[in-house]
Amino acid sequence: MSVRLAIVGGSDAGIEAARRVREIDAGTEVTVLVGDAYPNYSICGLPYYVAGDVPDWRSLAHRSRAELEATGMRLWLEHRATGLDAEAKELRVRRPDGSADTLNYDRLILATGAVPVRPPLDGLDLDGVHLLHTMDDAFVLNRAAGDARSAVIVGAGYIGLECAEALTQRGLKVTVVERLPEVLPTVDTPLGALVRDELVRHGVDVRTATTVLAISDENGHLRVHGEPSLDVLADLVLLSVGVQPDVSIAVDAGAGLGARGAIAVDATMATSLPDVWAAGDCAETYHALTGTSSYLPLGTTAHKQGRIAGENALGAGRHFAGSLGTQVVKVFDLAAARTGLRDDEARAAGFDPLTVAATAPDHKPYYPGAHDIAMRWTADRTSGRLLGCQLVGHQSTQIAKRIDVPATAMHAGWTIDRISDLDLSYTPPFGSPWDALQVGAQAWTRANGVVTRPRP
Ligand SMILES: Cc1cc2nc3c(=O)[nH]c(=O)nc-3n(C[C@H](O)[C@H](O)[C@H](O)COP(=O)(O)OP(=O)(O)OC[C@H]3O[C@@H](n4cnc5c(N)ncnc54)[C@H](O)[C@@H]3O)c2cc1C
Repeated sequence: MSVRLAIVGGSDAGIEAARRVREIDAGTEVTVLVGDAYPNYSICGLPYYVAGDVPDWRSLAHRSRAELEATGMRLWLEHRATGLDAEAKELRVRRPDGSADTLNYDRLILATGAVPVRPPLDGLDLDGVHLLHTMDDAFVLNRAAGDARSAVIVGAGYIGLECAEALTQRGLKVTVVERLPEVLPTVDTPLGALVRDELVRHGVDVRTATTVLAISDENGHLRVHGEPSLDVLADLVLLSVGVQPDVSIAVDAGAGLGARGAIAVDATMATSLPDVWAAGDCAETYHALTGTSSYLPLGTTAHKQGRIAGENALGAGRHFAGSLGTQVVKVFDLAAARTGLRDDEARAAGFDPLTVAATAPDHKPYYPGAHDIAMRWTADRTSGRLLGCQLVGHQSTQIAKRIDVPATAMHAGWTIDRISDLDLSYTPPFGSPWDALQVGAQAWTRANGVVTRPRP
């Protein structure tokens, strides 16, 4: 009899697992429960749909339903798992009409993703207060943006900033409110300040070090009130203050929880429950530099973990190689990227970090269109081990791909001086004989007072 694999969640992690299983073993019967009607849609693309850059929401599908079903997986759309008995290997399921069903399995992958954090604020349930996490959220926000003239975005993380650009592009007057001292708190404040300048340059009202306390209705508008001295009237409010793992099914079955309350997994993505794996935003991840559990909910991680969970559900015994939290965001004409640890994170992990700032043009300045890349490099003072890199520059400076060089180097456990050894490409319109990254890495080595280091 063929193995029955059930997967709860039909987005990045769940579909990746299902595809990999069907690719390796067409004999495995794969059933994917998809809580909504949108299997394998790119929620990373939602801000670009709201902006109007992607006018047809259907183009956000990584693959069509027909393409997915052609692999032999069964998609149960709008079927929600409501409970799990891991001993009996049985999922309780709510069908689209509300009736109850059960699904028996031999092996199970949980890929339930994350849900947006709802801070304890008065007024969150008012009409006009939005979240952006699902396709349905995007449809509602898209319609609301069409009727609105102003918006307050609570939270200046990468999704909040992508939405600030999207709503500005739609013609709204946007105010971004952030509790911390600078926007994009995933990078150091000097780089966050560059992103703030870009927002201001495009007319966004940025209020940092400001905490929203309440939202109230005022004649069909929303009054957003906070400290110190925040009192803004807007037509819509978008809450974007982070996500938390969706672990209700796992908790129901008694699974162990780990970093930030995500499902605890080992390197094979196995949970504490028999024959149950977890992947994506619902699961913790393993940090490739610190070797500890952490929670880094990103689409890239979800895909990789989903693939590993799928292989291991077939008995492969593969290990997830870990995350570095590599990420990039476009904010109007700027790109901001980071990988690895920042200084404080590296210190907390037991390293002896030094962080050095550097600036270099993306290509030879005599060729038109050159822009500076602002960098911050972090490495261990004693061993020289590369620990982190942050880049901000014009979107034409190929930051999104440049950040992949330090990400690859850290993955390989390199010291920072080895960046200078790399045979990187060069032609004046695109680079320099010493690429900007190499200029930055050399600045770190100079600052640390080390000129050469024996190769390990
Ligand atoms: C606006 C936005 C922009 C983003 N941009 C980026 C980006 O640029 N780069 C990046 O790396 N990451 C980005 N991310 C994060 C990325 O989208 C997530 O990390 C990724 O989608 C996680 O995939 P997942 O499969 O684990 O979970 P999700 O994509 O959250 O999917 C979870 C799935 O599980 C289903 N589900 C949940 N509970 C049940 C249940 N009980 N029964 C049945 N089905 C259930 C849901 O319906 C959904 O299909 C962005 C996220 C958002 C919201």
